[in-house]
Amino acid sequence: MPHRIIVLGAGYTGAIAAGRLAKRLRREDVAITLVNAEPDFVERVRMHQLAAGQDLKPRPFSEMFAGTGVELRLAKVTSVDVDRRTVAVTDPNGAGELAYDTLVYALGSGWNTQGVPGTAEHAYEIASRPGALRLRARLARLDAGQTVVVVGGGLTGLEAATEIAEARPDLDVALAADGGLGDWLSPKGREHLRKVFGKLGITGYEHAAVTGVDADRVDIADGRAIPATVTVWTTGFAVHPIAKATALKVTGTGQIVVDGTMRSVSHPDVYAVGDAACAMGPGNKPLRMSCASGTPAAWQAADAIAARLTGGKLPNVPIRYFNQCISLGRNDGLIQYVTADDRAVQAVLTGRLAAVYKELVCKGAAWGVANPMLGLPTRRRRITAERAAAGPAASVLA
Ligand SMILES: Cc1cc2nc3c(=O)[nH]c(=O)nc-3n(C[C@H](O)[C@H](O)[C@H](O)COP(=O)(O)OP(=O)(O)OC[C@H]3O[C@@H](n4cnc5c(N)ncnc54)[C@H](O)[C@@H]3O)c2cc1C
Repeated sequence: MPHRIIVLGAGYTGAIAAGRLAKRLRREDVAITLVNAEPDFVERVRMHQLAAGQDLKPRPFSEMFAGTGVELRLAKVTSVDVDRRTVAVTDPNGAGELAYDTLVYALGSGWNTQGVPGTAEHAYEIASRPGALRLRARLARLDAGQTVVVVGGGLTGLEAATEIAEARPDLDVALAADGGLGDWLSPKGREHLRKVFGKLGITGYEHAAVTGVDADRVDIADGRAIPATVTVWTTGFAVHPIAKATALKVTGTGQIVVDGTMRSVSHPDVYAVGDAACAMGPGNKPLRMSCASGTPAAWQAADAIAARLTGGKLPNVPIRYFNQCISLGRNDGLIQYVTADDRAVQAVLTGRLAAVYKELVCKGAAWGVANPMLGLPTRRRRITAERAAAGPAASVLA
């Protein structure tokens, strides 16, 4: 019987891990199943563009994984039983159960209201495609002069505010950040950000922690209220809740705690990648939820699984950061170069060139998902019968 590998979630990291596993292992030895709720790949890093009215290229999984040996299962994961090694799913035909020998958990994350009153009822999100489409429809109904307040001064908030302001110069766009505008950036990066905000007419509310959202305003901790016909909420991501309901060791926020090979520290037959995983990066700091670190983590997980099953050498490539790529509308951008542990250094790239750079990064990320068998040369290795039978827990001891 082939070794059954199930990958949950076909976002950036799950899709990349599944494709890489198919490149590393012989088809006769493994059954790789990729489970995803949607039939097509969602380019999450472009959700602000979708919300601002741009159309994204359709990317059906059936085309991407045709001929790869990866079986696609369109179903919603409802729970995981790590003791029985099963995954419960539902699809239009009803409920079902899938059994695995090795699991790769990559269900990603959603928006994070952080429990701020009124947010769930009144705010819009762009962490998911349905959320971005809902905001897109709402923005299309806004009249000139109406106000949009983006809450959150992180990368997603900056991208959202600038994208909306550029697409709809007739609207009054503002951003509320609990710190200073881009305060983690280098002086040059901050200066460029302020310049672009000025050019696009975006009002920046700094040190403005939002304590409540209503249908027509957001409330700030210092007692101010900012008028908001539409509020866009971008204050970080919340981990998918399924892992927290399992026996896996998770962090307080529900991320699966993994080692340097992305393997669960509590259940050796489970790997986790992307937003769902808590892995330590350089400086012993947890990797941030991003494609920037999620993609190499997915390579690492796939290579580690293949190495453990085939008796190969375990990968030990430290995952580090190089830059933060921020789009500021379609015509401007900011590439902030960073240290390995993600702290800004002096160097930045700004303007049109930075916008082109960021666009290439997004295209490259989607290309990597859409072409799982291209890129690095394929080296499929044979799983030894004993390792497959004993499972990955035993193989690491071998
Ligand atoms: C607007 C925006 C801009 C961003 N920009 C950047 C950027 O510039 N650079 C960067 O590095 N990061 C960026 N990010 C963050 C990045 O998108 C995420 O970190 C990345 O998508 C995480 O990848 P993932 O594979 O863990 O999860 P996801 O990409 O979210 O994939 C999860 C997959 O699981 C599926 N799924 C979820 N639940 C279920 C279920 N119950 N059953 C079946 N399938 C399910 C989903 O449909 C999805 O396909 C951005 C995010 C947003 C929202």
